[in-house]
Amino acid sequence: MTANGLVITKEQAQEILAYLEAHVPLEACGLLAGKGNRVEKVLFVRNQAQSPVRFVMDAEEQLRAFEWMDEHGLDLLGIFHSHPAGPETVSPTDIAEAAYEVVHVVCSRKGGKWTWRGFWIENGKARETPLHIET
Ligand SMILES: [Zn+2]
Repeated sequence: MTANGLVITKEQAQEILAYLEAHVPLEACGLLAGKGNRVEKVLFVRNQAQSPVRFVMDAEEQLRAFEWMDEHGLDLLGIFHSHPAGPETVSPTDIAEAAYEVVHVVCSRKGGKWTWRGFWIENGKARETPLHIET
């Protein structure tokens, strides 16, 4: 389990932020696959909601991403999405719709600068979990 946080490489972090930035003002999302608490692959999934305040993963793309993880022997460690206009924390909707016991990474943007926070969501409650972004 990944309740103790995630390790994300500098390259992965840059890849994610470039993708999120390209989708501003819309929220964008994706999956973090790996082993233990170490992310090995970032899988981007289209935000079907195409909304600045909400994300819904495209079911077809999400299924393909899960199949890819299976084929490569990787586990789902996290789900990330952006809050292009904040807040820095998971929203009540994020908590209500959290379907997997994985780290929920929120990248929020304020004044053109992105911040990262990780949350573990269980039984309708979110608590912060550390993200280790290698530099
Ligand atoms: Zn959210």
